[in-house]
Amino acid sequence: MGWINGVSGKLQCDMSKECREPVTHIGAKGWIYCTGHAQVRSETWERCRQMRPFEIRMIEGGKPISYTRRTLADYRAHGQA
Ligand SMILES: [Zn+2]
Repeated sequence: MGWINGVSGKLQCDMSKECREPVTHIGAKGWIYCTGHAQVRSETWERCRQMRPFEIRMIEGGKPISYTRRTLADYRAHGQA
């Protein structure tokens, strides 16, 4: 998974290495996407939801996030935050 672009340090959309849009969504399979690519995925085979701001910070801090978790308390309950 892309998670963090090694060159820029910014989150990288997993739909395309060439994509430079800000990452805003996570798909049911755990990949992360920009808004436009998340819409494309949702219309085909992978449901996507918008990430919460704390989730984006978690990824930026090197912690994996999960499509099925919804709150920071939920992550903490599973030892993921
Ligand atoms: Zn994209």
